[in-house]
Amino acid sequence: MSNRTLAILKPDCVRKNLIGTVIKHIQDASFKVLALKMVKLTNDSAGGFYEIHKERPFFNDLLAYMTSGPCVPIALEKDNAVKDFRKLIGATNPANAEEGTIRKLYAESIEQNIVHGSDSDENAAIEIAHFFTRKELLENNGL
Ligand code: ADP
Ligand code: MG
Repeated sequence: MSNRTLAILKPDCVRKNLIGTVIKHIQDASFKVLALKMVKLTNDSAGGFYEIHKERPFFNDLLAYMTSGPCVPIALEKDNAVKDFRKLIGATNPANAEEGTIRKLYAESIEQNIVHGSDSDENAAIEIAHFFTRKELLENNGL
């Protein structure tokens, strides 16, 4: 079991001025920030990141949303990072998310749901590499 996962504070999170609020939830849940940056995704970058969803009816809307403004990818570390982070953010649709989860507290809709979290160790490694070089991770991890 890997101990890393990728979070993205999505454009709605940035627009609503919730970057600090959401990072506080993440750090209060004992996740360590390994690396973080603010980026505006291009269509190609967002399309590559969400390639797995390219046949889904919501794919074009998802790309429009994810490229609508800057977002904040964050590489995180914790024991059971993937599973614990998914629990912290809650279900994709905030209407179905558990009380106290980040999506329940702050998300507006199944699309505009504030935050991304990797869904497996394998995808966490791919997704972290999508945004951060090995050097950035090592430097920021103090190794
Ligand atoms: P999660 O982010 O919880 O892993 P998915 O991987 O299924 O969810 O979907 C990726 C993202 O696509 C979601 O976080 C959300 O922004 C968007 N999305 C998912 N399902 C829908 C839907 N039915 N309609 C619109 N947008 C959706
Ligand atoms: Mg997913």
